[in-house]
Amino acid sequence: MKTLKLGWVGLGNMGNPMVMNLLKAGFEVTVFNRTKDKEAPLIEAGASTANSPEELMEKCDVVITMLSNDAAVKEVFESHTGLLSKDYSGKTIINMSTVSPETSRHLNTICNQHQVHFIDAPVSGSVKPAQDGTLVLLVGASPADYELAKPIFNELGKIAIHVGEPGVASAAKLAINYLLGLNLQGLAETVLFAEKNGVSKEDMLNIINSGACGNGITNIKAPSILNDSYPAAFALKHLVKDLRLAKEAGLDSPLINPLFNSYAAAEKEGLGDQDVMAILSSLKNK
Ligand code: NAP
Repeated sequence: MKTLKLGWVGLGNMGNPMVMNLLKAGFEVTVFNRTKDKEAPLIEAGASTANSPEELMEKCDVVITMLSNDAAVKEVFESHTGLLSKDYSGKTIINMSTVSPETSRHLNTICNQHQVHFIDAPVSGSVKPAQDGTLVLLVGASPADYELAKPIFNELGKIAIHVGEPGVASAAKLAINYLLGLNLQGLAETVLFAEKNGVSKEDMLNIINSGACGNGITNIKAPSILNDSYPAAFALKHLVKDLRLAKEAGLDSPLINPLFNSYAAAEKEGLGDQDVMAILSSLKNK
């Protein structure tokens, strides 16, 4: 049994497999999810449950949040039953949700005011790497806090990259998701253009993934394009959020606005809860 007692808030597509890996590694984990039935598989695997984020802070040394967006994270930190509702000085909170650098710095400030350590640790990689424990963790933390969290990061990812203080990791996360958005928009446009000119999507994906233009994400998304089926690994609405945050954080490149508008239109068409690769369905109808 590992010595740090862990708490976890947010058991969505990412939180669930990540907690499973911590349990397999021998951590004692207590979970809280707003929709309680999502806790069931983890309780079956050995997790305990709490009735509020506050109760997690009482029971645990380190509490990790993996929530949808800035508003959800702020609510879980700052509500009257939230992570900072009582004196939990000396404990540590790690936020792994993708939020703005500004929100990360704000969370760091309010944690410091409560003598609680704060680590900004968003992740790159989707559900499969979360299941396999091969995420890439981007870490914004003091050197001492980073050292404390390393045994946790070792079970969740293949690498943890310490990029600076809280806020810097969130900026790095927005940057890598901009590249993800460009990749998938490009992949969808390329396959559709080829199909219109008589090249099957099977052949086009084979050409892409056999050559230098293929990469990890073009390989991962090929089966969903072939099956024309997009169950969410990374929900499209979350990429719209991340591109919006990147714009707000100062990204002002030639492609950011058309890219954001394309994904935002797909979300408006009702594709927000589908996987981000459903951008292809949106573009197909134009
Ligand atoms: P998800 O499946 O949509 O899960 C979101 C989680 O947040 C759920 O547990 C949800 O609770 C909870 N939540 C939302 N609003 C809440 C609130 N106001 N109070 C309490 N809980 C709330 O999202 P996900 O895919 O796991 O992603 C989580 C975060 O990681 C996001 O910031 C996302 O951008 C980022 N991320 C995702 C991926 C990916 O591939 N999926 C990869 C890297 C990073 P309920 O169950 O009650 O709805």
